[in-house]
Amino acid sequence: MRKSCDQSQHSKDRQSNLFITISMRLLTHLRDGLTTLVYPATCQVCGAMIDRYDDGVACAACWTDAHITPLFAEPLCRKCGLPLPGRVSSEPALHCGLCGALSFTTARACGAYAGALEASIRFLKSHPHLCRRLRRLIARAVAEQGARLAADVVVPVPLHKRRQRERGFNQAEIVARVVARAGRLPVAAHLLTRAKPTERHRAGLDGKDRARSVAGAFQVAHPGFVTNTSILLVDDVFTTGSTLSAAAQTLLDAGAQRVHVLTIARVTARAV
Ligand SMILES: [Zn+2]
Ligand SMILES: [Zn+2]
Repeated sequence: MRKSCDQSQHSKDRQSNLFITISMRLLTHLRDGLTTLVYPATCQVCGAMIDRYDDGVACAACWTDAHITPLFAEPLCRKCGLPLPGRVSSEPALHCGLCGALSFTTARACGAYAGALEASIRFLKSHPHLCRRLRRLIARAVAEQGARLAADVVVPVPLHKRRQRERGFNQAEIVARVVARAGRLPVAAHLLTRAKPTERHRAGLDGKDRARSVAGAFQVAHPGFVTNTSILLVDDVFTTGSTLSAAAQTLLDAGAQRVHVLTIARVTARAV
């Protein structure tokens, strides 16, 4: 009798597991089928069909393109993370020679500002969402660069409040929350504020002009909070480094010990 009860229970468990498996598959198909309602149906890089919700605005092939693959393995400038092809990672003084004036301690990015990463960052400016593929890439960057970027708190680069009102959200804060979750760190979303709206960087501005245009742009809302802390400053993209440098300088002036930088992507041309 007991044996037959066990068999009956075993059979019910199997049916229940089968039901859950089929339901999960159906939900996955349904979700991927609904992808086009949330995301563009075609890859914003190559035009191919996107068939997985997790891939966001780029197709699976574009996500594995060698041009955007993670920068962690290449020889990088020890300070600013600029790829230095032809150099050797073990060189003790591996520096690009361009970032000496930038105020942050170390900067790293998940990949190059091109292809799927560029398309995802453009999409992020109008949609407050990071696809799962990108969240995994950020988590990998945090895992692999965690020791180099060791920090007490994650701080997003703020938008000026007028710009944030227009946009409805701060894209850097969305990235910062993913970074913080991966690194199990707190986020101080309103610690740094943008005191003046800075003009968008125009082509033709040299490094000094760019630095001047963002000088004094930031303020620390609670200076006592940053004394002797290590801060991980987060933004979507590292372009020239001048905005990140100005934000880092403001935090250092308020008493921070170190300011590391992590961005989704980095412009890799040697034009700081
Ligand atoms: Zn594609
Ligand atoms: Zn450098």
